[in-house]
Amino acid sequence: MTTGIIKINPDNFKGEELEEACHILKDGGLVAFPTETVYGLGGDALNPLAASKIYSAKGRPSDNPLIVHIACIESLYDIAEVTEDGLKLAKAFWPGPLTLVFKKKETVPPQTTGGLDTVAVRMPCHAVARELIKRSGVYIAAPSANLSGRPSPTQAKHVIEDLDGRIDIIIDGGSPDIGIESTIVDVSGSKAVILRPGYITKDMLKDVLCDVSTDPAIEGILPQKDIVAKAPGMKYRHYAPKGQLLIVEGSPDRVARKINSLVSEKDTEGYKTAVIATDETKDKYKCNIIKSIGTRKSENSIAASLYNILREMDYMEVQYIYSESFGAGILGGAVMNRMLKAAAGHIIQV
Ligand code: AMP
Ligand code: MG
Repeated sequence: MTTGIIKINPDNFKGEELEEACHILKDGGLVAFPTETVYGLGGDALNPLAASKIYSAKGRPSDNPLIVHIACIESLYDIAEVTEDGLKLAKAFWPGPLTLVFKKKETVPPQTTGGLDTVAVRMPCHAVARELIKRSGVYIAAPSANLSGRPSPTQAKHVIEDLDGRIDIIIDGGSPDIGIESTIVDVSGSKAVILRPGYITKDMLKDVLCDVSTDPAIEGILPQKDIVAKAPGMKYRHYAPKGQLLIVEGSPDRVARKINSLVSEKDTEGYKTAVIATDETKDKYKCNIIKSIGTRKSENSIAASLYNILREMDYMEVQYIYSESFGAGILGGAVMNRMLKAAAGHIIQV
């Protein structure tokens, strides 16, 4: 199949540019589109064939459920058994980077939910995503638009790299503001539980609901194969560059000393190495490739360039990647959750 590409300026578009993509969605085809978190790979959430196509295009395990994207709160009642906690969070944070898990209604086919009796729902705030949902009249099931296991796409070119020839159309709407996936909160039970950390933090959720806990599985480091797939991101290796990533954590000077010695060792053995540092620390390193992920003064800058940097490592065919840790601050938990998965749990303290 030939994959079409439409370029849209999210700050200045009419909506009619999306007509072809809307037809594709209504006909059960697949459309990659920008959101404020990462690019999504969308299909009609209520059409089992469309949902199945998403899994085959991504090479995604069939028990890893999809997030259903809607454009107004009323739509929630068509697909989910809405709970009081869920409604409070939806009203506080939608449209935005928060996904809520509810018990599903019959309308949602098991293909969309990976066979679970719950459904994950989000209302994005990206203008193009919202217009696409409204105009097509389709609830859009969309995981990230990458091949399974690869870093999530934060540019249309990342989607092209992974999915060209596998999907109908890609809407290029530039780079998302946030750059990491939504926070996922399970509100289907008696108590809200965070299943995946993200831009909306636990403290922000607690301002709305007093009782919010974190699923113990996301506090662990290694992907866990034998757990029930509550948020299956926990279960599979994710976000991974092709080279081996190692995170080194500790005081800046110790981290630099350790990374410089690891780099020198691997360089001597003839491998291609790279360092991921920050604007503040990049001069401490001796390596042929040193990339700054952003400034420690702006956590958003770090979150927004994480996946870009991991993909750049692939373009340069780096075999060993050494990175500082970015666990501090408000967004640190969300960033490190992705980094640790990308590193398959390889972290050392110095
Ligand atoms: P992605 O957008 O690629 O990160 O994939 C969507 C993620 O949402 C999945 O990997 C799950 O972690 C989560 N998810 C989707 N549906 C459910 C659900 N019914 N229950 C729990 N988590 C879900
Ligand atoms: Mg994903």
